[in-house]
Amino acid sequence: MDCIFCQIVASKIPSEIVYQDDEVIAFRDINPQAPIHLLIIPKRHIPSLTHLTEEDLPLMGRMVNIANRLARREGIAEAGYRLVINCGEQGGQLVPHLHMHLIGGRRLADELG
Ligand code: 5GP
Ligand code: ZN
Repeated sequence: MDCIFCQIVASKIPSEIVYQDDEVIAFRDINPQAPIHLLIIPKRHIPSLTHLTEEDLPLMGRMVNIANRLARREGIAEAGYRLVINCGEQGGQLVPHLHMHLIGGRRLADELG
């Protein structure tokens, strides 16, 4: 098991966990790009967006809902925030375990990339 996020799920690597249930875990990004930068991931190893199947769609809906609730809890829901999923090399995905970035707490750049 050399996946860094699977090791976070298994508590083999420490992280600042802010939420977890049976399917999803959320923790603070180790290299935050904004005052609030959380990662929301499925506990199951799904390599990237392109590996999602029809059966995974409820899981993705739950992840978005969890992100929205965490944005409220972190106090950035009113001001606004961004959910980002990088996919593949040209999409800027460095960790090959599907994850959603929740970023906020400052005015974010207008350009998406
Ligand atoms: P990606 O570029 O794959 O979309 O984003 C990967 C993110 O994972 C980066 O923002 C990076 O800072 C974060 N990250 C990488 N390794 C670790 C780690 O061991 N712990 C935590 N908390 N975040 C990590
Ligand atoms: Zn993994």
